[in-house]
Amino acid sequence: MPRMSKGLPIKQRIPGVNKVILVASGKGGVGKSTVSVNLAASLNSLGKKVGILDADIFGPSIPKLLNLNGEPRLTDQGKLFPLSNYGIESMSMGYLVPPENAIVWRGLMVMKALQQLLFEVQWSNLDYLVIDMPPGTGDTQLTISQQLKVDGSIIVSTPQDIALIDAIKGIHMFEKVNIPILGLVQNMSFFCCPNCGHESHIFGSDGVLKEAKRKNFEVLGSIPLNEEICLQSDSGKPIVIANPQSPASLAYINIAKTI
Ligand code: ADP
Repeated sequence: MPRMSKGLPIKQRIPGVNKVILVASGKGGVGKSTVSVNLAASLNSLGKKVGILDADIFGPSIPKLLNLNGEPRLTDQGKLFPLSNYGIESMSMGYLVPPENAIVWRGLMVMKALQQLLFEVQWSNLDYLVIDMPPGTGDTQLTISQQLKVDGSIIVSTPQDIALIDAIKGIHMFEKVNIPILGLVQNMSFFCCPNCGHESHIFGSDGVLKEAKRKNFEVLGSIPLNEEICLQSDSGKPIVIANPQSPASLAYINIAKTI
């Protein structure tokens, strides 16, 4: 547990990690976990050593997205060894407790689990740790933003107004606690018909781009609504690994280059 100074927790670095990048969203279902794994895979393809920390205690998705399960082994000091696939290290509550058990947890237990995930994992000298945040602005976000030295955050939103409003709330929270915001990722920005090539803006057009411009935020990139992203995620192989040359993969890789 980090020490306190003048009532404020001291922000700590995660042992064995060079840069910590948060991937956050205002609401669930906008593709935040999918962006997290594909960014991790992209950074890996750019020659970086990468890990993912799944900070969603109640709804961990990283085990499925990386096709991993099983209990982590422990070091002699009782730290958790990450589980790895596709060259990406990962740690998730999903490896430690079946999700149906965690769901009945209350505040203190959740915070204790989070401390363990944050500070007691034996990462092996990573260039980047991508933290897949739970949606919204709850206790986990507050704990992470108060206790952890974070190098940058990425906010994922769809162009829909409601997702965007929630995303902006998340941005304000990060600004208040001095977490650098790298920029916004617009996910499911348009659908390109595989038959005729027509682009449909299913969730509205360019909502994120306009809002970002208005508020002076950087837009790191736009990811199309793409069936292959969904299918590959469901099969436990991120599209950037399964099909690195596809336009959707290149969109993720281009975002990773800006980090
Ligand atoms: P969140 O982490 O925000 O809750 P997920 O990453 O779990 O969202 O994504 C929700 C669903 O949307 C998943 O089924 C995922 O495969 C799908 N999905 C995410 N991004 C895209 C995309 N760009 N195109 C198609 N499906 C997507």
